[in-house]
Formats: sequence, structure tokens, C-alpha cells
Amino acid sequence: MITIKSAPQIEKMRKAGELLHSVLDALRAEIQPGVTTLHLDETAERLIRQAGAIPSFKGYEGFPFSICASVDDQVVHGFADRNKLRKGQLLSVDCGCILDGWQSDSAFSVLVGGGSPAAQKLVDVTEECFWIGANMARSGNHLGDIGHAIQEHAESHGYGVIRDLCGHGIGQEMHEDPNVPNYGRPGRGVKLEAGMTIAIEPMIAMGGWKVYCEDNDWTIVTRDHSICSHYEHTVLITDGEPEILSFPGMTVAEALRR
Ligand code: MG
Ligand code: MG
Repeated sequence: MITIKSAPQIEKMRKAGELLHSVLDALRAEIQPGVTTLHLDETAERLIRQAGAIPSFKGYEGFPFSICASVDDQVVHGFADRNKLRKGQLLSVDCGCILDGWQSDSAFSVLVGGGSPAAQKLVDVTEECFWIGANMARSGNHLGDIGHAIQEHAESHGYGVIRDLCGHGIGQEMHEDPNVPNYGRPGRGVKLEAGMTIAIEPMIAMGGWKVYCEDNDWTIVTRDHSICSHYEHTVLITDGEPEILSFPGMTVAEALRR
């Protein structure tokens, strides 16, 4: 069932998004060679709980951490650990929180201490995919318009669009209807309406789109072990411009001009 959020509910999701954005900013500032993903995980949990919120990932279907820390060929759902991050690794950090009963979900990718131009391009194009997709998240459009826009941009650079995982509706639950695939055909799928809130999250690989799950039953890895980038925000569909709930003040138009 797709839920349409009321103005007061949207205001609560804005607050959750604001908190999550500040947490991810703080994590981003910590990332450098020598830091461990377990440190990032502990930092995220502390900041979320200090704000009176709940880390939504921790314990979700048994997931053991407050962030997903996915390195290089890990697509999503990587486990935090005590290994020191190394310069040039591609780290994706995904995090979610629940504030006053309402959820936010957001992810970013970064090259630890900088990296190769080819890897940086993958990170940049993945972010572009998000903004180009989010630009289609408008009342009257269809889910297929979002997926198609993301797929077209990624594939125009020769990248693989991960298909086994997708974005999702979000609200009081982290994962609500509908599924939001990063591929599709224009005009197909659910018609979007003002008040829907969805997490759009392109997962883009340097190589092919096929993946498998590691022995921990969580972490998804590219089958060809090519590096993969992930970028996500929680988005509100309105009758006008989409609102990025987990990036307060940033409009799609502004992001696309950058
Ligand atoms: Mg996420
Ligand atoms: Mg998500």
C-alpha cells in the first residue's frame, strides 16, 4: 500500500531528514585513511541517539550496525569493521534514523583520501544519476520515468545499473511500497502523487550489474568485483519541485546546475 503523507507527517519527515543529513555530514568529515568503519558506525549511533532518535538500521531484520559501510566492490549492506580504511578505496555510507516515529534514509559514496579519476567519475555520475532521477519525481510522472532517467545516464557512461536492489517508499516504515527501481521504461509503473515519499538510491557499478550475497547473508558484492557507488536521499513528491527531505534546502534544480 502506498501511503500519502499529510502536512504534519511531512514536517516530521523533514526533521528526521535534517538530523540524518547532519549525521552524514559529520561522518563524511571523519573519513580519511586510517579511520575504521566501526568508528563511523559508533559515531553515527551516538549522534542519532544524542538527538533523541533511533538508528533504524540497527536490528532491522537482524542487521548488526547503525550504518552500512560498503567498500569497493561491495554494493550495499557492508558490515562495519576494525580494518583501517586505505587511500583510494571507494566507501559508501548508508544510514537511516527514526525521529518521533518517522524515518529518513540517505547514503553517499566517497573516495577515501581521494582516488583515481576513473573512480571519482563513477562517484560523480552516480550522484548525477540521483539528481536526474529525482528531477522526474513529480506528481503525474510514473516510477518508470525515474528509473529510465537513472539508467540512461549511467549506461551512457558504460556503467552497470544494479537491478537486484532498488529504492523504496518510506514513512513510518523504512521500506514501504512502492519499489523504486533504477531502471525502467518511461510512462510505466506507479503514477506519482503529491505527498508520496520515496527513497531514490542509484547503485552504479564500473562493470556489470550482476551481484551476489556474501556469506554473512547481508553484504551484496558485484559479481565481476568492479567497484560500485551508491547515493540516496529521501524525496517528497509535490505538485511542483521535488523536495529532498534528507538534504534540507537543496533543490533538484540547484543540484543539476552544479
Ligand atoms: Mg539507505
Ligand atoms: Mg534505502
